[in-house]
Amino acid sequence: MENSGEGTGGGTGGTGGEGVRGGVRAAAPPASLSPSRASDFMQCPLLYRFRVIDRLPEKPSEAATRGTLVHAVLERLFDAPAAERTAPRAKALVPGQWDRLRETRPEVVELFADDPEGERLARWLGEAERLVERWFTLEDPTRLEPAERELFVEAELESGLRLRGIIDRVDVASTGEVRIVDYKTGKAPRPEYAEGALFQMKFYALVVWRLKQVVPRRLQLVYLGSGDVLTYDPVIADLERVERKLLALWEAIRLATETGDWRPRPTKLCGWCDHQAVCPEFGGTPPPYPLQVRSSESVGGPQGRMGPD
Ligand code: SF4
Repeated sequence: MENSGEGTGGGTGGTGGEGVRGGVRAAAPPASLSPSRASDFMQCPLLYRFRVIDRLPEKPSEAATRGTLVHAVLERLFDAPAAERTAPRAKALVPGQWDRLRETRPEVVELFADDPEGERLARWLGEAERLVERWFTLEDPTRLEPAERELFVEAELESGLRLRGIIDRVDVASTGEVRIVDYKTGKAPRPEYAEGALFQMKFYALVVWRLKQVVPRRLQLVYLGSGDVLTYDPVIADLERVERKLLALWEAIRLATETGDWRPRPTKLCGWCDHQAVCPEFGGTPPPYPLQVRSSESVGGPQGRMGPD
């Protein structure tokens, strides 16, 4: 999911990079990989460093927080008996889940600190309701009985690499076939970018395969922003390819961790990066590297460009 609660910055993620001594987080090498952090490294190694090693704080965004809210509503709706999982009921869950989010993540309150009349908040909540409503045009929750919701998964590959993540929903048919479903509150990517979107789903499929020895029958991305559903039926060769990709990625992360050589990779996505002030591409200076470094000659290997496949 895009808002798995997985920590960036000061969050509680656990993709490694943190150790707790006397209640103070100390920098530590990354210990596991999640789809989000793998994507970070592929997008920009320096962004990965800022999030996983330095754990620099990031401001909550309206879009990401709305995503978290909508995910919470869709998850809670399945508490109701099947026949009562209606759009009005789902929309009615929005205010309560927003209250709960403010309690569990007080930092989101600052999003609307400059909105004393509550007009922007009302629009934002209205947009969350519309996203929830659109879901009912794409799936029928009265006919679904998820086996799992917000499922935390973790698997260790033979190499020792630990993969982890949170899957929005797992459906299991009476035949035993498994479908992995992820909700996105944004719009579906153009076809040429679909592979990048599916990377996360294949990552989850690999974890499920390693955990349960079952290859999921279908991967399904539900785009509430545009009203699209993207599906992919993986085969073992897909998952083996993703595994090789992740091992190469992890090796590149290991090299960067040991050498301290985290290169910025500027793209148009920099516009959404919270760390421009400490990024050399924008005239900034990163904080002192908190881990011990070894020279790149002694560790070997360049930091290559990596894409989702
Ligand atoms: S501003 Fe761009 S180049 Fe710099 S760390 Fe962020 S994503 Fe990377």
